[in-house]
Amino acid sequence: MFEKIVIANRGEIALRILRACRELDIKTVALHSTADRDQKHVLLADESVCIGPPPSTESYLNIPAVISGAEVTDAVAIHPGYGFLSENADFAERVENSGFVFIGPKAETIRMMGDKVSAIRVMKEAGIPCVPGSDGPLGDDGDTNLRIAKEIGYPIIIKASGGGGGRGMRVVHSEATLLNAIILTKTEAGTTFGNDMVYMEKYLETPRHIEFQVMADEHGNAIHLGERDCSLQRRHQKVIEESPAPGITEEQRKKIGERCAQACLDIGYRGAGTFEFLYENGEFYFIEMNTRIQVEHPVTEMVTGVDLLKEQIRVAAGEPLSYTQNDIQMRGHSVECRINAEDARTFIPSPGKITDFHAPGGPGVRVDTHIYNGYVVPPYYDSMIGKLIVHGETRDIAMVRMLNALNEMFIDGINTNIDLHKDLVKDAAFLAGGVDIHYLEKKLGL
Ligand code: ADP
Repeated sequence: MFEKIVIANRGEIALRILRACRELDIKTVALHSTADRDQKHVLLADESVCIGPPPSTESYLNIPAVISGAEVTDAVAIHPGYGFLSENADFAERVENSGFVFIGPKAETIRMMGDKVSAIRVMKEAGIPCVPGSDGPLGDDGDTNLRIAKEIGYPIIIKASGGGGGRGMRVVHSEATLLNAIILTKTEAGTTFGNDMVYMEKYLETPRHIEFQVMADEHGNAIHLGERDCSLQRRHQKVIEESPAPGITEEQRKKIGERCAQACLDIGYRGAGTFEFLYENGEFYFIEMNTRIQVEHPVTEMVTGVDLLKEQIRVAAGEPLSYTQNDIQMRGHSVECRINAEDARTFIPSPGKITDFHAPGGPGVRVDTHIYNGYVVPPYYDSMIGKLIVHGETRDIAMVRMLNALNEMFIDGINTNIDLHKDLVKDAAFLAGGVDIHYLEKKLGL
């Protein structure tokens, strides 16, 4: 096992990585910006190295700064967390070339999955159901593109192969606007992502977002850990996640989950990953694979009892998976609310000093957060300041438990979205289960 790991991230995930390391008896090095000297994980880590000024482009996204920060220590591996450099294939490559272990898949896998056209091609070959589409990038011939769209059937969506973060997509409802939309998306993709390759897919109008968690080692083992429903979204940002997904049968879980695990073996996948699907009328359609640990991983941990961070670190160290597929049982129901420092109505970020903080507790309540009384939320980074996660024997119990926990949670000094979450866990349609990805924005009148 590794003796020392570098944590190349901040916030709650940095703390989560540190906690996993403690349990595995691994020493930690926290790399941080000048704005993050008082982060909880920095204070708790065995060592810390300041890697640059507050803007993430000069610190957490600065590859030379991260590598040289790691080099001044005798750490052997780097954990990228999520966001920042976690899905940057060049970074993974530089980490390995500098003699460290990158805690994640191989650089070439990250590169393949980061390009949506190649990811879809690989997944189709592996038998993963995909959205009906153009089968590769669109060329410049208008007639051909019109014909492809007609075969798929309107509405369709044009997507940038190199897109991410919900950007680089355009929905087209009829033939009249297709060709112009292709040109616009191509131009935008070229300037935004440095890659103007675009492709076409059927636009699903009322899908749910359901994703499967996988874990694979380097000894030819891969398992799935069931699914999460992340349909409550605002601007493609997930707000509440849960596991299992309401209404998904054991048979569907087994069928899709096992295909995902098999796909991992086919592509030589290593570590933790997520297969994201849109789900409509009982069918799953693959949209992309995330090659990192995700924000919403705790709901899977709560229902399976598997510590995904520890498992991720173990397989990065070359150990075989500690579980077989048969060991994975889904027990009860788990829900996660992302707590953001933002105005409840306008969603404008609300950085500043937390003057008072009380965490909820009780059976089945988990709080993953780096905040504390007196902590100052800096204005430079994502507004998520923590996650409230509950587990209950049933979905109904979990929802009541979440409402109680939200009522107990108190954060003063800054604005948060706690009240929005209280509304949502009382919402009749959400409580019934199975709302689609547009539900939250419609409810908010956006
Ligand atoms: P990104 O990498 O930017 O997150 P995704 O491919 O995961 O891009 O798509 C982001 C979101 O866009 C999806 O969660 C969904 O809301 C919407 N979307 C993408 N493809 C489709 C599609 N074929 N039909 C309907 N909505 C889609």
